[in-house]
Formats: sequence, C-alpha cells, structure tokens
Amino acid sequence: MTQRWVYSFDDSDFGSNAGLKSLLGGKGLGLAEMTRLGLPVPPGFTITTAACTWFFAHEHTWPDQLGAELEDAIARLELTSGKKLGCGDDPLLVSVRSGAAVSMPGMMDTVLNLGLNDRSCAALARRSDNAHFAWDSYRRFVQMFGDLVLGIHYTRFSKVQKQYCGDRELSDLTVAEQEELTKKLQEVIAQHGHEFPQDPRVQLRLAIDAVFRSYNSHRARYYRKTRKIPDDAGTAVSIQAMVFGNMGQDSGTGVAFTRNPKTGAAGLFGEWLPDAQGEDVVAGFCNPLPLNDGSAGSEDGARLEDVMPASYAMLIDMKGKLEAHFGDMQDIEFTIERGKLYLLQTRSGKRTAQAAVKIVVDLVREGHIDRKEALGRIDPQNLEYVLRPLISPDAQKNVIARGLDASPGAACGQVVFDSLDCQEYFDRDVPTILVRQETSPEDIQGMTVAAGVLTSRGGQTSHAAVVARGMGRPCVVGCTEIQVDYERELFYAGDSVIQKGDWITIDGGTGEVMEGKVEMLAPESDSGSLATLLAWADEHARLEVRANADTGPDALRARQLGAVGIGLSRTEHMFFKPEALRAIRRMILADDPRSRQRALNDILPIQRQMFRELFEVMDGLPVTIRLLDPPLHEFLPTRETEISEVAEDLGVRAEALVVRLKQLNEANPIMGHRGVRIGVSNPGVYRTQVRAIFEAACQLTKEGTVVLPEVMIPLVGIPNELKVMRDLTIETAEEIIARYGVGPKYKIGTMIELPRAALLADEIAEHADFFSFGTNDLTQMTYGFSRDDMGKFLADYQREGIIVDTPLAVFDVAGVGQLVSMATEKGRAAKPMLQVGICGEHASDPTGVRFFHENGLDYVSCSPYRVPVARLAAAHAALGFL
Ligand code: ADP
Ligand code: MG
Ligand code: MG
Repeated sequence: MTQRWVYSFDDSDFGSNAGLKSLLGGKGLGLAEMTRLGLPVPPGFTITTAACTWFFAHEHTWPDQLGAELEDAIARLELTSGKKLGCGDDPLLVSVRSGAAVSMPGMMDTVLNLGLNDRSCAALARRSDNAHFAWDSYRRFVQMFGDLVLGIHYTRFSKVQKQYCGDRELSDLTVAEQEELTKKLQEVIAQHGHEFPQDPRVQLRLAIDAVFRSYNSHRARYYRKTRKIPDDAGTAVSIQAMVFGNMGQDSGTGVAFTRNPKTGAAGLFGEWLPDAQGEDVVAGFCNPLPLNDGSAGSEDGARLEDVMPASYAMLIDMKGKLEAHFGDMQDIEFTIERGKLYLLQTRSGKRTAQAAVKIVVDLVREGHIDRKEALGRIDPQNLEYVLRPLISPDAQKNVIARGLDASPGAACGQVVFDSLDCQEYFDRDVPTILVRQETSPEDIQGMTVAAGVLTSRGGQTSHAAVVARGMGRPCVVGCTEIQVDYERELFYAGDSVIQKGDWITIDGGTGEVMEGKVEMLAPESDSGSLATLLAWADEHARLEVRANADTGPDALRARQLGAVGIGLSRTEHMFFKPEALRAIRRMILADDPRSRQRALNDILPIQRQMFRELFEVMDGLPVTIRLLDPPLHEFLPTRETEISEVAEDLGVRAEALVVRLKQLNEANPIMGHRGVRIGVSNPGVYRTQVRAIFEAACQLTKEGTVVLPEVMIPLVGIPNELKVMRDLTIETAEEIIARYGVGPKYKIGTMIELPRAALLADEIAEHADFFSFGTNDLTQMTYGFSRDDMGKFLADYQREGIIVDTPLAVFDVAGVGQLVSMATEKGRAAKPMLQVGICGEHASDPTGVRFFHENGLDYVSCSPYRVPVARLAAAHAALGFL
C-alpha cells in the first residue's frame, strides 16, 4: 500500500484503529470520531504526523504526493461546502490546526480564518450581510498569520491596535475603521520585510509549514522534555471549514468539560463568550461567562443555559454521546454560529487528582468502564496530590484578594513575576508563587517549579488553570482584585502592595490570596471515592503496604490511609525531644559506666511512652522499630554559642565538651560509627531501647492490645554483628516478659543496606526473622555516592547523559536491584519463612514497586502520605500495568 498523507474526517478507509492516534494526532482522530458519530463537526481533513516527520527529515520540504493529496482534499471540501477556498461570492475559509498524538495544550499553533484577502473579505461581508464580522475575521487573520506564520511578535500588532482604538473596544469601531486598522496591521507585516500573501493557496502552504514548525518550537520541546514525551512523533495538521462564533449576539464560542474537572462532580462545566472566536475563551484575555450554575465564571455573567437554551440542551445531549463513546470525561470546544452548535474538538479532559479518582469510580458505577480499567487510568504518583495541604480552618489569615479556585490545594511562597525568577528561587530551595496577569506557554517552566500560581485574568479554562490542574499545582486565576505591575515587580491588592520576594499564601480550593505564610493542615483522606478505588486496588495487589512512622499521630494517619503495619520507626527522632536529648548528651559525655547508666535510665521512660503510643495506634498490626542508627555526635551541638550553653546546662566544662566532640568527629560519617556499631560499642544504648520496647509491649499486652513488635538492627554487614545483637535482644526481652508474665510475639531482624549484607544474606538470615532493605543506604553504598555530596556532581552526570534518573529517587534496578534479588533469594534459601520488605525512599516509586513485586518481597514501607500511591502501584504491578 502506498503511503497516504491526508485523511478526510469522514474517510472510511482508516484501516485498523491501532496507531490512528499517532498518525492523525489526538485532535485529528477526535474530529474523525465525532464525524463518524454523526455529531455536528465542520468538514475537513487531516495531514498525518508522518508528513511532519518527513518535513523535518528533509529540510522543511514536503513529500512528493502531499501537494496533490492536499489539492484533492481541498477540492472535496469545496464540493461538500459548495464554496471556493478564499474566492468567489461565498468564500471558503478554513482553520489550520496543530495536534500531536500526545496532547500538548496551547504548545503549538493554529491559524483561523485562512483564505481571507481583500477580495474574499468583501465577498464575506456581502454574503453574511455583516461587514463588521467580515472585517473582524480578516483583522484576526492578518494578526495571526503575521504572528504564527511569519514570526512577527504579537505585541507588534497589539501595540498598533491599542494605539488605533484608544479608549474604545474593537467592537466600537466602524466598518471603515476596521478596514483601516486591518491595513495598518498589514503594514506592520510589511515593515518586518514580509508581504501579506493575498493568494489563499500560498497562505495555506505557509500556514501548514508553520504548524509543522511549531512542533519544534522552544516551548513545545520544553513541554515534551519535562513530560518525557519523545521528540520525534511530529504533529498532524487538521484543516477544517470555519464556523463563526463572531457573527453577533446569537453566536459565540466556548469550552465545556463533561464533568467538573476540579471535583469530578457530574454535570457540564465550562465557559463561553458571546460574539467571539476561537481562542478568546482559552487565552484568558477576557473573563468568560459560565455555562450554567455549576460552572464558575464571572458571578453575574449570563449563563449559556439561559441565553441559548436550545444550544445548551444540544450540548447536554452530546455530552452523553461523547462519554458513552469515549468512556471518559471529555473536554470539548464548541462554537455557535447564528444559533447552530458545532463541535470543534474533544479530548480526555485534564483534571485534578481528586477529580480523576472520583471520575473513574463514577464511570465504573455508571457502567462505562470496569474496575481494572479504572485502576489503570490513575497514575499512582498522582494520588499524592489527592492529599494536598489545606489552610488550617483556625489559621490567622489576612485575605487580600479573591479570585477563581482553579486548582485545589494551598501553597505558600515568595512572590515572583516570571519563569526565570521561579527557577532561580527554586534552585535556592525557596518556594515561590508565580504571579502573572495571565500565563502563556512561555510560563510553563516557571509553573513547573513554582509552589503555586496566581493570575489576575482568565477563567477556569484559561491556560493557567488548565496547566496548573494538570500539574497538580495549587492555582488561583481571574483574580481581578489585584493589579500586577511587571515593570516594578509588585502587585496591588486593595491597600496592600506586595513586592517580589514577599511571602503570600494562595488557596486554590477557595480562590483566596493571603498575605504572609498561613498555617496549613495536612490534607484529609476524606473522599469515599479514594477509599473505594484503593479497596479495588487491594483486591489485586500482592505486595502489602506499610508506613514509615515515628510518632503516634503519624502512625494513625498511616493506618487511616490503609497501611497494614509500620515498616520503619526511627527511634532517633524520639531522642530529639528536649528531655531525651539532654539525657543522651549526658550519656555520651559520661566518664564512667555508672553515670552512663543513670543517663540511660532517664531515657528509658521517654522511649517507653513513645513506643506505647505507636503500639496502641497500631493495635493488631506489626511495628518495626529500628534501634539507634545515626552517629552519636549528631546529638551534640556544633556551634560555639550552643556548646557553652549545653555545657552549662549539663554541668560540664565547655572544654570537656569540645574534647569529646573532637573524639567523635568522623572523616566519613556515612561509613562511620553508626548503626549496629553503636550497639556493639555501647550495648547499654541498645539494651535500654529493647527494654523500653518490651516494657511498653508487655504492659499493653496485659491491657489487651495486640502488639507485634519487630526489632530491627541497622547497618549489619557481618553475620556475627547480628548474632550478638540478637542474643542481647532475646535476653533482655525474655527477662521482661518473664517479669510481666505475658508478652508479645516478636521478631528480630535486620536491615540489608550494605552490599556485604546482601552478599552474605544466607548467613545473616540464620540470625534474622526478617530482612528490610534500606534502599537509601544500599543505593549510596552500592554507587559509592554519599547522598550529602552527590548534589555536587549529579547534574554533570545527567548533563553528560551518564545517568538519567537520580538514583535516590528512582530505584536502580540494574545495580542495586541485583543485590536485592540476590539477598532475597539467599535469605529465603536459608530460611524459607523469612519475611522480606523494603523501607527506603523507593518503596513507593513505581519502578521500585514493580521490581519488589516481581522479586517476591512481602511489603513496601513508605511515608504515610505515599501509602495510597504505593497501594495503587502494588495493584498496577500485579496487573502488569507498570
Ligand atoms: P489549540 O490546540 O491551541 O486548542 P485549536 O486548533 O483547537 O488549538 O484551535 C484554537 C481555537 O480555534 C479553538 O478554540 C477552536 O474552537 C477554534 N477553531 C479551530 N478551528 C475552527 C473552525 N474550523 N471554526 C471555528 N473555530 C475554530
Ligand atoms: Mg492554541
Ligand atoms: Mg483546542
């Protein structure tokens, strides 16, 4: 079969459906599918992405047959519409639209009203009996053509336009004035050394080239890079007969989501503008009107539902058809021309993480998709955003302005006004709120690294709102109460003047803008939908999910989010309570065994109380407690002022403290006196911790709580290290259990976080009831990169392409993975019932989860907020989605 470059929307010769999206692009395929469903779509055709790829591979030229196929398609379009492209009494005008396989909203170019020239404009004016409309369209076309096709910055045109209009709106111009303005805009083109082409065929070819080129624009490439979208796919170009929303008050254009993209609630949600065209709504230059009660938009704006009830009813009807066909919430673009509704685009709508969860659960309930499909549609990583922070209800807040609640979650940061500053602050670890009048694709980079986004203009479907929601970034748009002054880098809000670098807080769930840093609450894990989805996930998952938690409240949160145990409780965090810190400092500084023991005796009740809280919350579920891991010097002060204070507090001489500090100082702390080595040198420390664990456990067991402690020894690399500590633990535990007369069932195990431990896993397993891979240390020890120092060279490695991902963020299957699978195998060979889990950073990283699933681990243990992520990832792994 010879290659075809052009497919009409109603082409019956699509062949198999597979690969169509990559050939026609999302937009082209959507138009074809809507046409086949019999929905009102203006006729047109699509030039394939393959033509675009060819174009780039052959010095911006076209494949041989493309010109001829284009002519055929135009001829067919002229035949169906009964009009001639850009000429005759009733000229055919078209849009030339970009659309890649992977949606990149707003990243590429689209040219509207193509085919207009001096003659066809006059014809259009006569034919439509609306000269105002004809010139409005021509003016738009000249401007778009100049900007997008000829590359003249749009501000050159808007400046001339502003000068010409003065205080008046465009709609106030007379027809003669519009004509004059359009000529002036053509002069701008001439001043830039171009000629505005009058020939529609020339216009068309140049526009197609421009749309091809827009695929490789800087912003489109950046967009793909940040989303890991491959660069070589190319864009399709759809050419479509124009319909006009700018023909008067009985016309208009809008954007509608078939469900609420913020909450997932059922019902049409969107905005529209009467007497407007194309991008007017999306661009955010005007504040659009709501479609209905459920849609945001200017509060008192006329609702489409009331103004054009017939068109609105049709939209509702189409919403049902589209969802039934696509099985998903759709984002549609529509235009009403003199009371007749047309659909111009449909795609799966971007949505917040909250909405995504509710929508798939509802789609299952409504019978559109099954549970597996629902699970597969949610990216596990996004579940973290379902639990985004909120403003504390009783927080002190000074609300200085209100805008539209575009993307939920609260964010707090220093104000900046452009992308570059965002990045610069981000590099210094300073959170920012990006404040703009409106955002454009140039701002993507800033939005990627900003904590939140605030715009003074634009509606719920403006660029800022759509992009922020997709990124899960808190966002407030259309905040007309603020005036942004880019030049002086400040904004006014009522009486306040907020300057670059000032702190503000925004609430994307309410639209509030507040001065300063406002207290935030950890998010609620409310939604029934999330619980439902995760329950479905658990039906498939084999890996269990535990959490890393050090305190009662953390453990409670983890349990509420579905953790089935604590996989890591770091006891050192307990030592940072003031009384405990003092005691451990006394212990470290003690000169003789007696005073050392006295200090440890003071630590005992504090630790016991903390363990009690953990065990109580986790009643019936296992709790893994890691004995002291960090080097002792971490508990001592380092700054001089602090040293003398601490010395005074402890009743020792500052010099003595300094001497001890010197002794404890290490050349290489990562490989220093830490982990089990502390237990070997200071068995009293570990013995005290074990006592605290078992006294708490025995007390609670007596009270009827089911306690399942698992004592974990860190940084073991030598089998005998574990043997010695196991003996110590059993001896201490049994003595306490004997004293209480009852006791818990307990386990003793070790972390596998040194390569040597993995190599000798079989011997180590003889002394262990469980292994828990500490993949943070295991990764740095395997690479020989210290995590505190790798920042100094990691960027160079990534720039050179030596490594792709950050090893501590994405599990290193190739290297560390071998150690994990070998250790698991060896350990289980020696002890078949050995329990094996992982408690590093990688526990909820999908790459890691898939690997741990495949290698037969029993559980992953991650931070409480990541528990939903891990539960869904575990299901994805089991279902083969990862
Ligand atoms: P984007 O991918 O940036 O949304 P589109 O190709 O969808 O670009 O076009 C931008 C706007 O122009 C859309 O809002 C659409 O409604 C409008 N538009 C595109 N083609 C036509 C057409 N044939 N008739 C009327 N409006 C159109
Ligand atoms: Mg666009
Ligand atoms: Mg569009």
